[in-house]
Amino acid sequence: MLNLASDNVVGASKPVLEALIAANDGAENSYGSDQFSTRAEEMLAEIFEHEVKVFLVSTGTGANALALSALSPPWGAIFCHEESHVIDDECGAPEMFTDGAKLVGIAGVAGKITPEALERTLTRYPKGVIKAVQPAALSISQVTEAGTLYSLDEIAALGATAKKHGIFYHLDGARFGNALVSLGCTAAEMTWKSGVNVVSFGATKNGCLACEAVIFFDPKQAETFAFRRKRSGHTVSKGRLLGAQMVGYLEGNHWIDNARHANAMAQKLANGLATTPGAHLPWPTEANEVFVILPAKVHTALAKADIKAAPWASLSLPPNIHVREGEAFWRFVTSFATRTEDIDHVIGVAHGA
Ligand SMILES: *Cc1c(COP(=O)(O)O)cnc(C)c1O
Repeated sequence: MLNLASDNVVGASKPVLEALIAANDGAENSYGSDQFSTRAEEMLAEIFEHEVKVFLVSTGTGANALALSALSPPWGAIFCHEESHVIDDECGAPEMFTDGAKLVGIAGVAGKITPEALERTLTRYPKGVIKAVQPAALSISQVTEAGTLYSLDEIAALGATAKKHGIFYHLDGARFGNALVSLGCTAAEMTWKSGVNVVSFGATKNGCLACEAVIFFDPKQAETFAFRRKRSGHTVSKGRLLGAQMVGYLEGNHWIDNARHANAMAQKLANGLATTPGAHLPWPTEANEVFVILPAKVHTALAKADIKAAPWASLSLPPNIHVREGEAFWRFVTSFATRTEDIDHVIGVAHGA
C-alpha cells in the first residue's frame, strides 16, 4: 500500500529521532526550562530575525487554539477562512480555550481570504456595539487548506487591513516550511514584516514526531501564555523531548531540506496527474499537496493498486470548476519520506488506466 492521504501518515525523520535519543540521557530541567527548549528558542530567534517568545506544544490544534486564546477575549470575533483548520478540524478547541470567542468563517476561492472579503465581514461586527462580538483577530493558514499559498503581498495586504481595524493577526503554519521554500522568502518576510503577530510553527508534518511552536514577536502578547499552556494540559513535564525534536528539526537546515523534497515530489505528481487524460487540477500545486479531479476509471485504478489519497470536498473550488457524476476529487500529500519511485508508480497507474 502507498499512503499519500496526508503528511502525518509517516513517522519522524532520522535526524529528529537521533536528536531525541541524544537528549534522552542524563538529568535535565523540566517543564520547558531545559537546554534544548532554550536552544530551540534561540534558533527560532535567528531564523525569524527577531526577538521571540517560543512555547512548544505537541499538537497543532493546541498551538492554534492557545495562540488564539491569547489574542481574543471571550466576546471576541476571530476571522478565518470558512474551511480553515481552526473552524473545521479542531473540535471547537479555539472556542473552548478562548472561553467562547466566535469564529467567523469567510468564503474565498482556493482556501484564501481577500482583504475585500475581510472588510465586508468586519462591517457586520461594529466596534463598541454591545450586541455584536468584537473584532479581535484574523487567522490565516499558510499553506492554506487548499494547498495554495498567499503571496507576500497578499499576507501584507491582509495585515494592513487587520492593523487598520486594530485586530491581531495569527498565521497557522502547520506547513510553514513548505510555504517558505516555495515562496523563496525569509521567515521574517512571511510573518512579522507582513504584519503577523503570532505564528503556529508546525514541525510535526515535516519531520517531527509531535512538536509545534507558538511564536510571539511581542513579549507583551505572550504574557499569559505560560499559564494558558499549563492550564490546558499542554505543558510537557519532560520538556526536553519537545525541545530536542525542534533542535533536531532546525539544525543544519534539515527542515528546509525536508520541505524542499516534499514540494518537489508534489510538483512531480502534479505534472503527472495534469497530463492524465480526463484529470484536472482545480488550482495550482504550490507546496506539498496536490488536489485533483479524477475520472472514474483513474480513481478506480488507483484504488485497485492500493494507492491511498484523501477523498476531498471543498466550497472553495473556482466557480467554473465542478466535480461531475462519476468523478472523484482527491487530495494527495507528499512528505520528506516520499520517494521518487512512489510518485512514478502513481503516475504509471494513472496513465495506464
Ligand atoms: C495538520 C494541520 C494542523 C495541526 O493539526 P493537529 O492534527 O492538531 O496537529 C493545523 N492546521 C492545519 C492547516 C493543518 O493542516
